[in-house]
Amino acid sequence: MRYKSTRGGVGDLSFIDAFLMGLATDGGLIVPCHIPSVDLDALKDLSYKELAFEIFKLFVDDIPDGDLKGLIEKSYSTFDTDQITPLVRRDGVFVLELFHGPTFAFKDVALQFLGNLFEYVLKKRHTYVNVLGATSGDTGSAAIYGLKGKENVNIFILHPHNKVSPVQELQMTTVEDGNVFNLAVEGTFDDCQAIVKTIFNDLEFKERYHLAAVNSINWARILAQIVYYFYAYFRSGLDEVYFSVPTGNFGDIFAGYMAKRMGLPIKRLILATNSNDILYRFVNFGDYSTGEVVKTLSPSMDIQVASNFERYLYYLFGSEERVKQLMDEFSRKKKLSFDGDILKKVREDFESYKADEENTLNTIKSFYEKTGYIIDPHTAAGVFAAEQSGHEDVICLSTAHPAKFPEAIKMAIGIYPPQPEAIANLKNKKKRMWVVDNSVEEVKNFIEKNLEKG
Ligand SMILES: *Cc1c(COP(=O)(O)O)cnc(C)c1O
Repeated sequence: MRYKSTRGGVGDLSFIDAFLMGLATDGGLIVPCHIPSVDLDALKDLSYKELAFEIFKLFVDDIPDGDLKGLIEKSYSTFDTDQITPLVRRDGVFVLELFHGPTFAFKDVALQFLGNLFEYVLKKRHTYVNVLGATSGDTGSAAIYGLKGKENVNIFILHPHNKVSPVQELQMTTVEDGNVFNLAVEGTFDDCQAIVKTIFNDLEFKERYHLAAVNSINWARILAQIVYYFYAYFRSGLDEVYFSVPTGNFGDIFAGYMAKRMGLPIKRLILATNSNDILYRFVNFGDYSTGEVVKTLSPSMDIQVASNFERYLYYLFGSEERVKQLMDEFSRKKKLSFDGDILKKVREDFESYKADEENTLNTIKSFYEKTGYIIDPHTAAGVFAAEQSGHEDVICLSTAHPAKFPEAIKMAIGIYPPQPEAIANLKNKKKRMWVVDNSVEEVKNFIEKNLEKG
């Protein structure tokens, strides 16, 4: 498989080159040159790891089979169940538990793999990287747990100061490994993301210091996330399904879109947002325009610009030229409008509902009352959307363990969720974190002082 940029300025990359590039050097996102289709019958009885191997192989031809198997084995051995992403059924609702990795959220599924992939690739190429990323909470801790202690890698993670949950902050900042740097930026998640984008667009700086990304823009993350759509479908025993996906940066749901395009019988993807509803407005009204970021009970979805959206635009229009025009227009006007046949096409792939704070709390409460099962606020947005859709045969992606958001759970049902030991122990650990201004220069200076130099 070869890879190219959504904006046409980069082409013919191998998987490893695409992985190392992160954001394409022309400012676009990396996509495969074609979408492979799958033989469902050949995949349906495989274990998670076997399935991961078969799906990865369709997109990776520059890692020998034995090595790829080894990477998968190592990456998913840190999960607390062999099923990796168990599908459970509560009160007729399918819940896909994506939180069995070391940081109790779905991003581990991709980032445990990415950490091992980095180590493997860097060793092979006798080089090093400095990973730079922005997080609204879960990406940061998952990236840190993926990369901590790995050789020839330093990791710099920006998060909005005091705007991530206490558990998320503890998970990120209590890691002792010397290659991990937490920067708390005085600003919002979008500010953090803008700083990272600006630094990556400074190609001279990026190349001089071997900067790399692990954000949801990295194609390897999307790839890892495609697997559980297949896994869940096969375990559901259904012929055709809907997936309800709590969405922020459009990464997770884009993986579902790829699965659909590869031939998985997904009727439509249900896109769930919280009050930060740019994607909800896009699907329902063709209005992709930014507003102010509002702080909600589901902070990992508190975004206004969805960084993976450009990938979907590429498939929607099938033209690099058009994507480039649209992204230029968006950076000028902070707004794109769609209608007619294009919007119709969007609605063949997606439907969307938004859960405000009250909907979120009520859904946690009613689901608990019906089933005794506690869902976290992100998952609740997806379960709410599934209810709103009125469809049966919906698989709801559960993106985080409720213990990551104890205050929201307490608000909803009056009790705290049971806390896994690994989370309870974080409070006793020492913190490592640096507070910085919302400034590109300050972040650049910090990186220059704390680099991995190989
Ligand atoms: C990151 C995250 C999301 C949103 O995922 P995207 O890929 O950004 O759409 C939803 N829920 C949780 C718990 C997350 O950490």
